[in-house]
Amino acid sequence: MATDRRARAAAEQELALTAPLGHDALLAGLCASVRAGRLAHALEFVGPAGVGKFLVARWFAAALLCDRGPARGGLHDGPCLECGACKRFQAGSHADVFVVDVRQEAEKERSEQLRIGRFVPREEARSTYWGGATVEDFLGLRAASGLWRIVIVREAERMNSEAQNAMLKSLEEPAPNVLWILETSEPHELLPTIHSRAIAVRFEALALELAAEILARAELEPAAARELARWAGGAPGVALELAAQAALELRAVTLAVLVGEAPSTTAAAAVWAVEGEFVGKTERAQQRTRVRRVLDTALELVRDRERLRAGLAPAELPHGGVAAELARAAALATRGESRRALHTLLGCRSDLESNVDPQTVLERALLAFAPPPAAVRARG
Ligand SMILES: [Zn+2]
Repeated sequence: MATDRRARAAAEQELALTAPLGHDALLAGLCASVRAGRLAHALEFVGPAGVGKFLVARWFAAALLCDRGPARGGLHDGPCLECGACKRFQAGSHADVFVVDVRQEAEKERSEQLRIGRFVPREEARSTYWGGATVEDFLGLRAASGLWRIVIVREAERMNSEAQNAMLKSLEEPAPNVLWILETSEPHELLPTIHSRAIAVRFEALALELAAEILARAELEPAAARELARWAGGAPGVALELAAQAALELRAVTLAVLVGEAPSTTAAAAVWAVEGEFVGKTERAQQRTRVRRVLDTALELVRDRERLRAGLAPAELPHGGVAAELARAAALATRGESRRALHTLLGCRSDLESNVDPQTVLERALLAFAPPPAAVRARG
């Protein structure tokens, strides 16, 4: 089955260790503090979503446990990938690392709420790599390697307050040689007491060329890689998500409406015909994810159209690659019409989250940002 194959490939990729690109200085700093024996017991990896924070967390954890790594005096700022410890890490069987993937838990439970922050995971954080054991089970054991015991929490902001409070107890009474790495792109969702116990490690978005290179390695064709890297603001993880949702195709459909080339009914049919991966437990949830992508894209395009009108250079815009089409669209709608379109689109966005039928929302949204028929007629 294709889906089995994909799931297996995803699981293997989850365990594989790939050197993260674009964060060398940050890794060098972390490894230097290990060699100097002054690594904090809790690190908060903060920065934009999709820039590689979780990749770096696993890479650094592997480096700490590596037989030739910085904790053993090694000079390389990463794992060797060859020793017994590295092999166990990559097989998912290293006893000294515990990964709580709150993101994966969220996807399993109520995927459609992933982006709107209402999701509250189970109280006890359980590891995906430890067959459902809890963090407490893990912390109750002695380090098998004699080095560090490492807990990585992915998308820590999704933990509810009970889970955060439970974690706080461990942070307040740090056990020797236990390291927590909390990964988050929404640090304001974490308790202030957690911030005060952890050392912040700040990540930046990658340069567009580097992000595009990473995407090309993930087998995206170069033109699409460049376009998506720019759309995602230098966050390869976000760009890959856009690619999975066939976002460039959906953007083309949206643009055709904006420039008055496609009537909204044709566009609605085209939106449903695009093949992409739209997460959701039920068919309706998947439809909602698809329509959310169209609405978000339309919002961004209308905003970029107004930024162009205000004189910003295309290179400064996430959708600068379609500046010519946006300029054509600007000739068909006034600023006031753009404002009204934005207002309606935001209303559609909140209707979508309050469970209004996705098809109805899509049709209303497409009508809202289509140029007035008189403007299209006047152009001829
Ligand atoms: Zn190694």
